[in-house]
Amino acid sequence: NMSTRLFIAGQFVEGSDKTEIEYVLQSSTPVCDHSRSSFSNANHDYIANGKVITKVSEATAKDVDIAVAAARKAVDTTWGLNVPGSVRGDLLRKLSDLMIQHKAELSALEALDNGKTFTWAHSTDVTFAIEVIKYYAGWADKISGKTIETDENKLIYTRHEPIGVVGQILPWNFPLLLFTWKIGPALATGNAIVLKSSEFTPLTALRMAELIHEAGFPAGVVNILTGYGQTVGAAISEHPHIEKVSFTGSTLVGRKVMEAAAKSNLKQVTLELGGKSPNIIFDDADMEQAVNWTAHGIFWNHGQACCAGTRIFVQAGIYDEFLKRLTERAQAIRIGDPFSTDVDQGPQVSQIQYDRIMSYIDSGKKEGATVHLGGERHGDEGYFIKPTIFTNTTPDMKIVQEEIFGPVGVVIKFEDEADVIKQANDTMYGLACAVFSQNINRALETAHKLRAGTAWVNCVNQLHPNVPFGGYKQSGIGRELGEYALHHYTNIKAVHVNFGHKLQ
Ligand code: NAD
Repeated sequence: NMSTRLFIAGQFVEGSDKTEIEYVLQSSTPVCDHSRSSFSNANHDYIANGKVITKVSEATAKDVDIAVAAARKAVDTTWGLNVPGSVRGDLLRKLSDLMIQHKAELSALEALDNGKTFTWAHSTDVTFAIEVIKYYAGWADKISGKTIETDENKLIYTRHEPIGVVGQILPWNFPLLLFTWKIGPALATGNAIVLKSSEFTPLTALRMAELIHEAGFPAGVVNILTGYGQTVGAAISEHPHIEKVSFTGSTLVGRKVMEAAAKSNLKQVTLELGGKSPNIIFDDADMEQAVNWTAHGIFWNHGQACCAGTRIFVQAGIYDEFLKRLTERAQAIRIGDPFSTDVDQGPQVSQIQYDRIMSYIDSGKKEGATVHLGGERHGDEGYFIKPTIFTNTTPDMKIVQEEIFGPVGVVIKFEDEADVIKQANDTMYGLACAVFSQNINRALETAHKLRAGTAWVNCVNQLHPNVPFGGYKQSGIGRELGEYALHHYTNIKAVHVNFGHKLQ
């Protein structure tokens, strides 16, 4: 019975054009099929088959204008500098309590929307999302500037003021989790938000709108729009009265967001983009642990993770043994209905993503790599892809260079530290990296030489509310999570007070 309308100025409303986006169940397995979305068709009459499970209001650029006005009003009257941080903290705490109360429901929506397993959504995504909101609740009354000493008759201090109205644009791979990464620091610092969820996965953001309403946030503080990137996303990026945009998604679209920001009002930009992370296993690694973590590194969330450790570099002496064990581990992954407790991997999110991954697999085959494992669809229906491992690759192959965003990894042999550091850094991305070795000097020296925003030693894909996450190179600008994320949501004002210095 949840609302599937836009959440603007504290109300659930239809889009200005009164159009809707439809969501279907496909075949026997719940799969959200958004594949037939036609960006040029205003009525979105794109469902060819399957049962429509819900319709979601479609926002347009006009709704962005309305939401921005509501957000501005909130910042100027009931939010921003008008309320103490303790009040913002209390509201965030109430929100995290409501999320705890509705944890099973949020997990089910997430599994339905995205295709990830309910078990994983419940134990990881939603648990982590709750922790993120709690963490930023704790920060809300601890946002403060500094006093700075210059000379005896001057008092100089800084204030960390909210930026004002911020735009936030989300991808579909961790819809609820990334929603909290975005709203947590923005609300703790007193900003009002105009947020667009992914057109592929709007359900948990809309349920969160209801919980935000119930928690008692003033009208207009959080506005949630469902709609397409080319319309709503673009309107947020180029809006003259949005002063900051935070985007998570592909590098391709991130570039467009930054261009639009530059051309409109030079709004501040943070970008969390793609990755092609190296995962390095030295010959002195704990073999069993390295295999377990490596499999988690590629196959977690069906490979739909920006930080997925998709380039697996294995030192020559252990290459054969490692590959054998990794293969066994990958073969044990159980694929199927995301709501079954016996399943590890559900379907990919959409037909578009399914086709995209399969075309990468084809390109690997055509370019002469060896399909060591998988390389094909699982079953006859649904967007299921077998865990896939390529070997015998060359550095210029597309499957080695480009982000596939599916359960596909390449295993590459290397000789020594210098060789692997050179190969691992040979990418336009720099989101994350992992190193496995029981020699701490070797592990840390290598981790420090890899150009990435996160380096994992003897683990992969570890994230925590307190710890910053973000990319080097074309993996992004800025950091999410931790104290670092707060810096991207405040303007710093320096106040100079003269109490004695006379100008002659
Ligand atoms: P995407 O770039 O296709 O879309 C992301 C969002 O941008 C969506 O809401 C989409 O509607 C919107 N969008 C599309 N065109 C737009 C435009 N012209 N202007 C403004 N917004 C527009 O990405 P996706 O397929 O949803 O997500 C997968 C990508 O996200 C992968 O590349 C992945 O690595 C990346 N990602 C990065 C992180 C990180 O923290 N670095 C986390 C998760 C996902």
